[in-house]
Amino acid sequence: MSSSNNVIAYIGLGSNLGNRIANIRHALDEVRDCPGVSVTAVSSFCESEPVDFVDQPDFVNAVAELRADISARELLRTLLKIENKMGRDRPMRFGPRVIDLDILLYNSCIINESGLVVPHPRMHERSFVLLPLEEIAPHAEHPVLGVMISELADNLANAEGRHRPAQLQERSPVL
Ligand code: ADP
Ligand code: MG
Repeated sequence: MSSSNNVIAYIGLGSNLGNRIANIRHALDEVRDCPGVSVTAVSSFCESEPVDFVDQPDFVNAVAELRADISARELLRTLLKIENKMGRDRPMRFGPRVIDLDILLYNSCIINESGLVVPHPRMHERSFVLLPLEEIAPHAEHPVLGVMISELADNLANAEGRHRPAQLQERSPVL
C-alpha cells in the first residue's frame, strides 16, 4: 500500500453510553492505529441532546480530520470494525450507542452506493456535526450543496441558536 496519505477525510464521532469522552478518545486511538490512516486534527468535544430518538442520554460528539490512502469503502469498513470492537450493538437505529463513527466528507467525492453515502446525508442539518467540523475545516466545501462548512454552520446556528451544543473539552492539537 502506498503511504501517500493524499485524501483528506472528515469523520464524525459520537457516544451516549458509558464514559462518553473516554469512548471517543479510545475510538480516535483505534483510528490512529489503522494502516493507511492518520489523524491530523480533532475538534472540541461537544455535548448535545439526541435528535432522532429523543428518549436516550445526551451525546458527546467530535469531528476528526484524517489523511487516508485507503478507499472510502475501506475507511467505512475500518470504522465499522472499530465500532464492533468497542462493543457497539445495534438493537435499534438511532438508539443509544457506545460509539458511532460516520464518514462525513471524503475529499470532494460524492458517493451514493448501497451502505455508503458521502457526504453523510444528514450532516448539513446537524449542529453537533457542523459546529465541530467548522472549527477544523471552515473552508471545506460540501460537494453536493456547493457551499462552505462555515456557511452551513452559520445558517444552522442562526436557525437553531438555542440548540447549540455545549463545549466540553477544548480542541486539542494532535500532531
Ligand atoms: P447512523 O449513523 O445513521 O445513526 P448507523 O451508525 O447505525 O446509523 O449506520 C448504519 C449504516 O449506515 C452503516 O452500516 C453504514 O453502512 C451506513 N452508512 C452509509 N453512509 C455512511 C457514512 N457516510 N458513514 C457511516 N456509515 C454510513
Ligand atoms: Mg453511524
